[in-house]
Amino acid sequence: MFFEIERLSKIVQELHQLRYLKRHTFDHVWMKDGFYKDIVDVEEANEPWIAFDKIDRWGGKEKYAWFRNEVTVREDYVGKKLVYKVMTSRKDEWDSRNPQFLIFVNGKIIQGLDVNHQETILTESAELGEKFLVDLQGYGGSIGNIADCIHEISILDDRIERLFYDLHVPLEVVKMLDKEDKDRIDTLKYLIHAINLIDFRKPYSECFYGSIDTATKYLEEAFYGNFCDPDGKVITWCVGHTHIDVAWRWDLAQTRLKVQRSYASVFELMKQYDAYIFMSSQPQLYQFLKEERPELYALLKEKVKEGRWEPEGGMWVEADCNLTSGESLVRQVLYGKQFFRKEFGVENKILWLPDVFGYSAALPQILKKSSIDYFMTTKISWNEYNKLPYDTFEWEGIDGSKVLSHFVTTANFDNLPERYFTTYNGYIDPKSVKGAWERYQQKDISNEVLISYGYGDGGGGPSKDMFEIARRLEKGIKGCPIVKMGTATEFFERLDANVSQNKKLPRWVGELYFEYHRGTLTSMARNKRYNRKSEFLYEDIEWLSMMAHLVDDRPYPKEAIDFGWEIICLNQFHDIIPGSSIKKVYEDSKEQYEDILKKGETLKKQALKAIVSKVQVENEAIIVFNSLSFERKELITFEYPKKKMCIYDQEMKLDTTYEKGYISFYGTLPAKGYKTFFYER
Ligand SMILES: [Zn+2]
Repeated sequence: MFFEIERLSKIVQELHQLRYLKRHTFDHVWMKDGFYKDIVDVEEANEPWIAFDKIDRWGGKEKYAWFRNEVTVREDYVGKKLVYKVMTSRKDEWDSRNPQFLIFVNGKIIQGLDVNHQETILTESAELGEKFLVDLQGYGGSIGNIADCIHEISILDDRIERLFYDLHVPLEVVKMLDKEDKDRIDTLKYLIHAINLIDFRKPYSECFYGSIDTATKYLEEAFYGNFCDPDGKVITWCVGHTHIDVAWRWDLAQTRLKVQRSYASVFELMKQYDAYIFMSSQPQLYQFLKEERPELYALLKEKVKEGRWEPEGGMWVEADCNLTSGESLVRQVLYGKQFFRKEFGVENKILWLPDVFGYSAALPQILKKSSIDYFMTTKISWNEYNKLPYDTFEWEGIDGSKVLSHFVTTANFDNLPERYFTTYNGYIDPKSVKGAWERYQQKDISNEVLISYGYGDGGGGPSKDMFEIARRLEKGIKGCPIVKMGTATEFFERLDANVSQNKKLPRWVGELYFEYHRGTLTSMARNKRYNRKSEFLYEDIEWLSMMAHLVDDRPYPKEAIDFGWEIICLNQFHDIIPGSSIKKVYEDSKEQYEDILKKGETLKKQALKAIVSKVQVENEAIIVFNSLSFERKELITFEYPKKKMCIYDQEMKLDTTYEKGYISFYGTLPAKGYKTFFYER
């Protein structure tokens, strides 16, 4: 047969258009310039409401506005599913650059809207005269683009939409297969038969709907029910996710808003798709939500209890692993695991670092000792020159500790094998699913790959389209791997059971060096200096405060120490400390560091004073502390205005030198302790 694919594509496209009917674009909506957190704020503000026409454009770098519209259900909408759409004409850009909205309907937060989530359901069955007050908190994006902001209402026809996806998904699979492939030939037979059943003469007529139902039923029984194979061997394990950079081309304040919009979209789509399971890392983001929208945070807790939200990832933020000290890496895991345990009663098992710029050889030991058994990244596939030879392997660290590691292999099937780039902002569609499997290098030991799907950075996470496609791919369309929705933990536990005893499981020893994003060790030197100074200071405060508590019964300042470490950890985020964020991020960062350094110095002085007050000396003495965990013989220097001074270590007189108001001598100091030297003037 000729033009089978073309004919099918045309009909699928037709159904795609017919899904929406009685579309109505509003001539204007109301707008107030500026940022308002809630409806009450916008109503109290003196700023006037201005009419925003459908031909008007809006946006601009870091611009905010509030939009309002009132919708009354008209007669021809009665009994139908109504959707409200906001279209901004933006596409093909990194999501953070596009306008984003938080939509409220009748005063309640519903979800985030963005280029990937343009519509929200107002009602499943509209009633005559029913009113909907639609409010949108709008953000213009991280660059200065001006865009449309068109508001539309329409009926969404579920019956047409279902047939559209039933045909569209296998057609996309067929397009990837060779002409002579048996699966392609067989699948086409079913699809052609189905479209021949549709009566397109008068769309939306009784005959039309009758034929839509017949074609749907035929596909359900003959194709999905009989021909498809849900027990296929190759499985793509799909985990819903949104990679939100804690700061990057926007500041921390904007991240707090991105979290609200993105997580609200997750909750809304969870209502519509029972199979939806979402995984989110970085307690810092949870903390932002908890502070900003406690009602959404309560919902999040419910989802965790239901097993549909997986709080995982291991670290406080997805931290840089090149500049961050060993102690800080431990803290990242400590604070990360503690937060998830305390808030949700879960024990993290995975280090989830999809986007971090290189991985220290110290990590396997730190992870093992923190009961983190698994490691995941994607970024290493962005290497400029060398492709890492493994996607599933044991990663061995400096001390010989090993962690089971797996790289996300989501890639576009069309670009393989020339381009080995993979993504953590994955899609669920036949090209990505087949691409993830084709790109996978350990097919000899495992039949399962991991896909982290969902738009990131304010792109709103997974979309409806992904779930509709997943529903069909779960049924086992021949020529494409099976899709299974699940948690990241389930994937790793299955992988562990399947490959850990396999002698062919490869091993990578040492650092996972990332051949890209160079300059991360040198740019924004000020932050790097602040980071190291803070790391040292907060380590010191901790042991000195503990010693002060033991000798002087001084209360241990746990809250202040935790606060300091959380700020240090936050600023080790993989776009902050490497220097890849915008100026505002470093202004905030400077303020935060100066605050914790100031508070930290006070805490340190108080602890030292308390310890020293308990050291009993008969003569005049100086007390020298060693913060390191080994004994040191060091040059000790202190300010003293006069030249003459004798220093004693017990009975032994030590040699001293004098220069410009400073006396120096060599002394031996115990590990994590202090020593008293006596002196005579
Ligand atoms: Zn990132």
